[in-house]
Amino acid sequence: MKVVFSMAKMNVLDENYEKLQQEIQTLSEKWRREISNLSVNCIGDAAENGSPILPQADLSIDFSQYQLFIEELLHLLGQNNEGMIHLADKIRGLLTIDVLQTWFEEAIVVNHFYFNNYADENNLPVWLPIFLAEQAARPFLQEATVRLEPQLKEMNHASSCPSCGEPARFALLNKKGKKELTCPRCLHAWEEKKISCAHCGSEDELVILKVEGDESAEIHACHKCKGYTKVIDSRKMFKKESPTLLDVKSIHLDYIAQEKGFGGLEDSGKGTH
Ligand SMILES: [Zn+2]
Ligand SMILES: [Zn+2]
Repeated sequence: MKVVFSMAKMNVLDENYEKLQQEIQTLSEKWRREISNLSVNCIGDAAENGSPILPQADLSIDFSQYQLFIEELLHLLGQNNEGMIHLADKIRGLLTIDVLQTWFEEAIVVNHFYFNNYADENNLPVWLPIFLAEQAARPFLQEATVRLEPQLKEMNHASSCPSCGEPARFALLNKKGKKELTCPRCLHAWEEKKISCAHCGSEDELVILKVEGDESAEIHACHKCKGYTKVIDSRKMFKKESPTLLDVKSIHLDYIAQEKGFGGLEDSGKGTH
């Protein structure tokens, strides 16, 4: 059964926040082009071990590059917020090779416990270490995901990204009109039956929420597991935008879904503040 609601589009995104996200995205795309010396080794049989694959793989990266990405991100944050300049100096002083290695490992699994402790121990704002570590790790995760594509194709239905483990909460309708779940974090995409819950697979208890005045977006919400997925029709967009930005720009859909009692998932590691 499918019920269609209609709701007015809300404008919840602050202009400066959107601009900053755009700048981070540009930076992230630049980093991805700069990555060198990445090697990915799958330990054991990926299909047998189950998803997500990335946290189980052996990733070897150039840590001076990871450090540079973090520093460039700090620089960008400093341009937007003067209070950040002092914090940026402090963090630069903390980034030893040991810290960088740990940050990278814990960022892959989005270990809030570790990063909250780290912030606490070093007297840093709680959002900052995880934000830096996770954002700077993303280009490596995206490159590694491309390399793991053959193994990823063999994975079964999962309620989260089979590559990095991010909850499946964002999808695009592709050129053929098929629903393609897309991970805003590692950019892995996988096709799913259009009308089923991305989390529990239920077809009967899925509700489609539409947004008044916004033809290109809907929310697929599930009464069975209370999960939801935002679905954006990419055929109705003028220019192709990265799923990461589309996810940020469609935050009003998250508000609508959560207001209706869906989601309320734990922080999914987006690292935004
Ligand atoms: Zn992913
Ligand atoms: Zn469900």
